[in-house]
Amino acid sequence: MPPQDLILFFLFLLLAGGVIAAFYLRRQSGDFKPEPSGDTVFECDACDHFYTDDSDVERSLCPECGRMNSPVQF
Ligand SMILES: [Zn+2]
Repeated sequence: MPPQDLILFFLFLLLAGGVIAAFYLRRQSGDFKPEPSGDTVFECDACDHFYTDDSDVERSLCPECGRMNSPVQF
């Protein structure tokens, strides 16, 4: 094996190791945490439309069909 190939092979190993390390570090810290927006999520019982409204409302009117809906419980 010529020395150029050896250097190239070594650099490739280094790069592959870096990619694998980055992949695992991303997976560990990549938990999806949505930021609290202060809005309440509603799902319409009639048309399955998802929408949000202010957090201080108990029930909200669907913008698609006008039906009153309760907030979605996660
Ligand atoms: Zn609706």
